[in-house]
Amino acid sequence: MAEELVSGMSSKGEPLVTQGLWVFTVLVVLLGLPQGASASAEVVDGEYIVRFKPTGTSRVQQKLQGKAFLKAAFSGKGVFHLTQTDAALVSELSADPDVLYIEPNYRLNAIKPADVGQAVQDPGVYSQTYAQVGATAAWQLSSPSDANNRPIVAVIDTGLDASHPVFTRSNSVWVNPGEIPGNGIDDDYNGYVDDVSGWNFIGNNANFFDDENHGTHVAGIVLGATQNIVGAPTIESKIRIMPLKFLDKNGSGSTAAAVNAIYYAVNMGAKVINCSWGGSAYSRALHDALTHAYEKGVLVVTAAGNYTSNNDVSAMYPANYAVPSNVSVAATTDNDRLASFTNYGAKTVHLASPGVYVFSTLPGGWWTSMSGTSMAAPFVAGAAALALREAPDLTGYQLRSLLLASADPISRLRPYLVSGARINMENLLNASQQNVAMLAYQPDYSPQYLTDRSLASETTAGGGCGMIQAIGGGGAAPPPGSGAMAMLLLLSPLLMWFALRQKTPVARRRYDRYVLNSDMMIKAGDRQLVASLKTISMGGLCFDADEALEKGGTIQMKILGPDGKTAIDVEGHIVWSEKNESYGVQFDSVKEQAKATLFSWTKQLLKAS
Ligand code: CA
Repeated sequence: MAEELVSGMSSKGEPLVTQGLWVFTVLVVLLGLPQGASASAEVVDGEYIVRFKPTGTSRVQQKLQGKAFLKAAFSGKGVFHLTQTDAALVSELSADPDVLYIEPNYRLNAIKPADVGQAVQDPGVYSQTYAQVGATAAWQLSSPSDANNRPIVAVIDTGLDASHPVFTRSNSVWVNPGEIPGNGIDDDYNGYVDDVSGWNFIGNNANFFDDENHGTHVAGIVLGATQNIVGAPTIESKIRIMPLKFLDKNGSGSTAAAVNAIYYAVNMGAKVINCSWGGSAYSRALHDALTHAYEKGVLVVTAAGNYTSNNDVSAMYPANYAVPSNVSVAATTDNDRLASFTNYGAKTVHLASPGVYVFSTLPGGWWTSMSGTSMAAPFVAGAAALALREAPDLTGYQLRSLLLASADPISRLRPYLVSGARINMENLLNASQQNVAMLAYQPDYSPQYLTDRSLASETTAGGGCGMIQAIGGGGAAPPPGSGAMAMLLLLSPLLMWFALRQKTPVARRRYDRYVLNSDMMIKAGDRQLVASLKTISMGGLCFDADEALEKGGTIQMKILGPDGKTAIDVEGHIVWSEKNESYGVQFDSVKEQAKATLFSWTKQLLKAS
């Protein structure tokens, strides 16, 4: 195998002789995996996040006078962070018609590295084998340095030692142009005094120094994906790092602080946000923050977690929020195998990136290697920012599409990831250069909140129906023990083109979806597949199947209606939709009776809603 030298992003290769052993080890780990491997949710005592309805915000604020301390607010969204709140007030607010939701302020933690190497002061000529990500080729493809084209990557983490020579020599730390340093005035009226090049959301001050190591290591990886950070001389960076500290010296932080940091990053111009942290609790406030990022065209890169668990089964947040600009990242080795610790998920974890023995910066001018999805995610974040320079109008949604489409498919990763692929930066840069004229575009996204009654599409990759991710045979078997959820496959729409009478697939997403729990038989060739119907709408339906569908294949389907009795039989073949960039099922001949039945189901569901 050819070797690629990537200084600063290099890692130790698995010796070839141990490859067979590696497979064995990984499978054993997966077999032994307990359900729900992630820790149970912790909360910050007495603290809550509450969101008011726009029409009731002033009323509720009055009701709260003297009852709770309003610690922070997320501007313009009606979201407030309450401290010193007692149970009586919480139940009062829960029942208040002016309150959209109230939830505990959950704790979030840095995803701790699975391995930390010895710290060294001199990186020397550190260089080793590395996965074939095409980084050096991408650097050569990348447009020349341009002071006016340096996309900002917000590193929301434990902070940053901005005085590390790598960051000073590359001049890579973001500077807020609207703020005059040290005058004690909020010059740009953004609510933060002297936020010259970042913010500390714990102490609520401008001192974001990293007292933990994690954030500085992550930031070095972001930069190291875009240029050689080890070899001298260090060139002026093509991207900028916006350090936002919300995790303390123990790597622990709160959802309220994370939400604040995300709004800050988006509102201050970050185009990519890296989240190498998480927790098991679903937070609607955090979901809303990621949705805000999506609406502003910002890519969010999230680490999948280091529990060797299946995120389709045990959710990890923010990785699992089905926001269409959220790319969830698993860690792989130099040989493109899942790292022993990495989380995965055929429906929820999108992309693999190298995350074993990644060499990067530490506070105080030091260096070391670390392993983890915390290291895999920032490599994707840096690569995405570099690609964005070539096509600055791309939205986060488009960037994610390019990241997944340009990645190298790896057959053994297929059962574990949405894309079944590992990042390829050279392809990514090529793709962004080819799409330089692409208009900014993203589909409508209506969050399906887990705290709502309808959970229809929460786990749908891409935030709704629209993509069939076909995952074929070969590769490793899915981990046993994860049951029906660990299906080899798809959560997706059948494009009910006959029923639609719509010319553009995109328009289908305007329709509301309704949950329809029903079994569905699919016959593909001589195979009989069992699938469960998830949702149905005027625009189509979503289903889970326990086996792969292949392009060009013909299928027969029997769909059981909401009454559990009526069924329709349809036949079709699997096609690729260029416009929708997804697989769908085109129905060849549908009887009038079947159409009428489908419409009657949909009509009933519309009435019932
Ligand atoms: Ca300010």
